[in-house]
Parts: sequence; C-alpha cells; structure tokens
Amino acid sequence: MKIQRKPEWLRKRANPGDQAGMRKLLGELRLNTVCQQALCPNISECFSCGQATFLILGRNCTRLCSFCNVEKQAPLPVDHDEPGRVAEAVCRLKLSHAVITSPTRDDLSDGGAAVYAATVSAIRKESPGTRIELLVPDMQGDIASLAVVALSRPDIIAHNVETVPCLYHIRSGADYRRSLEVLKNSKELAPEIKTKSGIMLGMGEVELDVLEVFRDLRSVGCDYLSIGQYLAPSRAHYPVQEFVTPERFGELQRAALESGFLHVESGPYVRSSYHAAQYA
Ligand code: SF4
Repeated sequence: MKIQRKPEWLRKRANPGDQAGMRKLLGELRLNTVCQQALCPNISECFSCGQATFLILGRNCTRLCSFCNVEKQAPLPVDHDEPGRVAEAVCRLKLSHAVITSPTRDDLSDGGAAVYAATVSAIRKESPGTRIELLVPDMQGDIASLAVVALSRPDIIAHNVETVPCLYHIRSGADYRRSLEVLKNSKELAPEIKTKSGIMLGMGEVELDVLEVFRDLRSVGCDYLSIGQYLAPSRAHYPVQEFVTPERFGELQRAALESGFLHVESGPYVRSSYHAAQYA
C-alpha cells in the first residue's frame, strides 16, 4: 500500500533562513551531519537551536538500507583531523549534549571504533562538561571494536534496531539479533554507560511485533528508547506503509515505559537524536 499524502500532523515546514548559522559553521569546519544527509524533517528546529548530529567517518555508507538517504558510494579514507573539528564545533555551539554518529564502515577493520574513541577524547579535552552520546553502527558485531568505543567512556552508547525483525530485509547487511548483541555487550563492557535504541513505525510492522521489540530491548538492558514515524526520503526509497497517529505514539510510549525503559520519546517527528538532551 503506497500513501501519497501526509496527514495534518506531518506538515512541518523547513525554513532555510533558520539554518544559516549552523550551515556556515559546518562548512567552515568541513563537518557532515546526519541531519542534512538523512533529510531530517526537524532540521530547521534543531539547527536554529544550535543542535546537530555530527556524522563522522565520511558521508558514504557501505550498506544498502532501502529506507536510508545516506549515500551508498565507495567510502572515503579516514580523516584523522575530524575528531578535533567535531570538538571545536561542540565548543563553538556550547553543546551540553553532543550526538555523534557515522555511516556503517564495513571496509574498516574496527568499523570506525578508533575514530569514535578519538572523537570522545577530543570533546572531553575541549569541552569536559558536555554529555556525549555515540550512535554507533553494529561494527559487524565485533566485541573488540565495541570495547574500544566503550573504553572511551561516552555517556550513552546508542544503536538503533530501526524496525521489527520480520522487516529486516530492508536493512541490508544488518541482523536483528546482532543489533541486540551490540546493546547487550555495551552494557556488559561498561554497565555505567546508558544504552539507547530507536525504532521507526509505519514500515508495515504489526503491534505485537513492536511490543516484542520493546521486550527484547529491555532483556538486553537497554535504558532509553526513541519511537518515530518513518518518512521515505524519496520515491526511490522503501515506501511508507502507514502514518501512525500521535495518539498511537502516546499509547506506545506508555507501553514502553511500563516495560521498564528509563526514558522514551515517542511521536511522529521523533528521531534518535531528537531532544537527545532530555533522556535521563
Ligand atoms: S532530530 Fe537529530 S538528525 Fe534531525 S535535525 Fe535534529 S539533531 Fe539532526
């Protein structure tokens, strides 16, 4: 089923004027953001408030998820100065909470773990009071790589399951159980670090499967959860199957909290990094 028209609650307008300051800073420091790459609908709101999610390790992804707008091209060489530039951006933006993510880098033996760790280290040096959230790819389930990330001591390690297991055919190269293992291993490696995951709705999932995902995430000790509406970046991407109502998002938030998450953001515009500073 293809749905062409967005409902009223999904008619958010982007205002390029609100984004000018952030775009200038990102250009000066040659930094990428997932906000731009993923065509996030919250970009005006976040950029105008000085919020952005930094996309390290280049803009090219080695996987082919059919819902994602991040570029699927040959990955670029690692830019070893990038951690310092991210730290400078965090300082200039006076961020109390910084979210760092990357495309999947299956071409790197450590999945990019060393660059994540160097970025945490650079931010700690330049802005010691900033809370740091790393939204990591699965690093092919390699525990040694995940240990490098955990030992860098971010405040939050996030890894999104994105959807229910029976729809994993749209997450090329991913594996639901392996994603759960990333969260489980993060918690075992560093119990004091909070873990977080996210799921998108409207991809054709049924409610029982969503509730099962909540249980699975809690069974691996996941602390925080984001629940948002999937929006297809273009007609070439996996089509939206359903627009979930704000009321339904509210019901699912209550169900998730009852299952034991410490904090849940749930709503049509929620993304993993949306209102990230509020998870506590
Ligand atoms: S919700 Fe996250 S990805 Fe979207 S614009 Fe805000 S910070 Fe960027």
